[in-house]
Amino acid sequence: MYKPNNMLKKISIAFACGFLALSSFSQKTIAIKCGNLFDTKAGAMLKNQVIMVKGNIVESVTPAASFKEQADTTIDLTNFTVLPGLIDAHTHVLLQQDITTKEYADQLLTESIPYRTLRAARSARISLQNGFTTIRDLETEGAMYADVDVKKAINNNIIPGPRMFVSTRAINTVGHYALSPEEFNWELDLPQGIQIVNGADEARRAVREQIAHGADWIKIYTDRGYYRAADGSYHGLKNFTKDELTAIGDETLGSRKKLVAHAVTHEGIQDAVYAGVTSIEHGFGMDDDCIKLLAEKHVYWCPTIYICDYMSEPRAKLGSIMDKYFMQTFGATFKKALDAGVKIVYGTDIGGYSWDEPQAKDFEYMVKWGMTTVQAIQSATITGAQLLDMEGKIGVIQPNAFADIIAVKGDPLQDIKLLQQVQWVMKNGVVY
Ligand SMILES: [Zn+2]
Repeated sequence: MYKPNNMLKKISIAFACGFLALSSFSQKTIAIKCGNLFDTKAGAMLKNQVIMVKGNIVESVTPAASFKEQADTTIDLTNFTVLPGLIDAHTHVLLQQDITTKEYADQLLTESIPYRTLRAARSARISLQNGFTTIRDLETEGAMYADVDVKKAINNNIIPGPRMFVSTRAINTVGHYALSPEEFNWELDLPQGIQIVNGADEARRAVREQIAHGADWIKIYTDRGYYRAADGSYHGLKNFTKDELTAIGDETLGSRKKLVAHAVTHEGIQDAVYAGVTSIEHGFGMDDDCIKLLAEKHVYWCPTIYICDYMSEPRAKLGSIMDKYFMQTFGATFKKALDAGVKIVYGTDIGGYSWDEPQAKDFEYMVKWGMTTVQAIQSATITGAQLLDMEGKIGVIQPNAFADIIAVKGDPLQDIKLLQQVQWVMKNGVVY
């Protein structure tokens, strides 16, 4: 039987405490003078504040008039609006756009995982520069567990990048994900963008394997093959049996991990909620029943709007019309979900579209479709923090939060587009 070496553990904890005490003693302080500081919790803009950062943590936020402390360094952001670092709850650092099947196939067939990981390092840096200091990266698209390595390299200060929550390979069933044998020479053993399972036992095994390799979240794809019925309602084909969904949900939640599902229309969303998901990704074709269900079960919706718009024209030209249909009704669906009290969290699916495109574009749609600018910013700060169980640590600037802070010129409450031009970024107390 495995027995942990308690004595060794106690010694190392004592060492760690000693080291912490010593290092916090020598931690440098930075005073950040803010002209405007957006309080995400109160939804209010505060004037002339000073943020005191010690090491990687916010120590205090004080009105400038009463700030008396001495800091090792002072940073003047009095001509900027200062906000907490943003949270993107749906990214793919290992993907470099896949509007067409060919773009996707080229990456899996012609690029090795090490090469794709080097490209992912660039994606991670871009996310940080965009002001998204935390991301939930929702699967590697065939790059196995390379997201765990990117996360590790960031945490070990090897490369610059955001805080990462990773989901590794994601899970789907046989024949329901790229690369499809139908589109290639069937004699070839094709690389897969997903971990394929068949039956409850394999589903359970996949969850266990992914968690063992470092998955923070388990991602499943619950639907495919979307279509619009004669009455205008949207539908899709189910990917899993009830047994498989039960096994995945049970194994994930039983391991104290969270489940997330790519689910676009009624059937997939119902199955995802049945399996026990914390969030629904996309949901472009969500109907009234699903909106009600998400509100009742407190399931988050991560709508990834810009990518749907971005892909609709090029995909329509290639004969795939569904994104175009979804865009016709997306605004009304969004407004209904908002009014019904569904928790809407900011997520882009960037990587599905190019990392050279804006990451803050979704805000514009959210505001156009009924959110206030305050609510839109909250979706990428406090709501994202709730989703990730990081409340009080990220998405806020307050004592004991991580020093993840950004600045923009002008007032994003007046013009949400300003979030596409982040001028200054601090993550974990370090300026990038
Ligand atoms: Zn995605």
